[in-house]
Amino acid sequence: MIAVVGSLNLDLVVPVPKHPVPGETVLGGDIAQHPGGKGANQAVAAARLGGNVAFVGRVGEDGAAGVMLDAVREEGVDTTHIARTPGVPTGRALIAVDPAGENSIIVSPGANSRLGAADCEAAADLLQKAAVTVLQQEVPDEANHTAARLAGGIVLHNPAPAVADAVAPPHVDLLVPNRTELAALTGTPVPETIEDVVAAARKLTGAAAVIVTLGGDGVLLLEGASHLHIPAFTVRPVDTTAAGDSFCGALAVALAEGRTLEQAARWACAAAAISTTRAGAQPSLARRDEVEAFLAR
Ligand code: ADP
Repeated sequence: MIAVVGSLNLDLVVPVPKHPVPGETVLGGDIAQHPGGKGANQAVAAARLGGNVAFVGRVGEDGAAGVMLDAVREEGVDTTHIARTPGVPTGRALIAVDPAGENSIIVSPGANSRLGAADCEAAADLLQKAAVTVLQQEVPDEANHTAARLAGGIVLHNPAPAVADAVAPPHVDLLVPNRTELAALTGTPVPETIEDVVAAARKLTGAAAVIVTLGGDGVLLLEGASHLHIPAFTVRPVDTTAAGDSFCGALAVALAEGRTLEQAARWACAAAAISTTRAGAQPSLARRDEVEAFLAR
């Protein structure tokens, strides 16, 4: 079983002719709403790939809570440990997209910001039994630290989004940053070349292994003194939203099935590559049969 401790956000997306400057009002197009949040995306990614997934998180008592609970439940995710939070809105992301595809995003964490140590302690049995526990940085550090301490299996931490003052939890087995998050963790400029990535990743101490995701350049895997660059699969990407979430969810599934880190990373690259060929976050996430067919090409 895979435990995902993290955020659930309802994404509200509005097309705009241009982004407003302070004090300005712009008229946008029709609003669309989609289930999102890194925790929910990673849970759905893992469930769609055949993982047995349970979620530890918080929503409010508003309409958005029902939308989010239904979205993850429909994918087979166990929602027993998603608590309702009275008087607090469910997390939402307000996303404006201009004609060039440039986003500006305001995240209102709402109930996600109320996830605490007690919520993880209430899920202690689950965390103890989980083969893999997956964490990100859209809930308070306190929740992540407690979950990491209680986890009986592999702890996978995706330090996303990059938060300057976030404190990575102790007891992390596998850290999975992208280039920007690696720079935030190490206080270095965003590494460009593979050599720069290796040098920056070597500064990370605390996790037994690190996988840096490099977009169209694939991933860099560091374990002990050795490192391995795994190139990305060649695809024609149309939207890379949630590529990292797709990768983390897939990685958790493969590790829970007992694959080696290298095997798991290659498999997760395939799932993530498929997700870049389709629009959106959760709608783009791959199913297991698609990954197997993609690898058998
Ligand atoms: P994030 O979405 O967190 O920034 P990345 O952009 O690094 O994450 O993407 C995560 C993974 O998705 C990459 O390691 C790679 O395996 C896959 N991926 C992303 N972009 C592409 C691409 N253009 N072609 C093929 N695979 C990709």
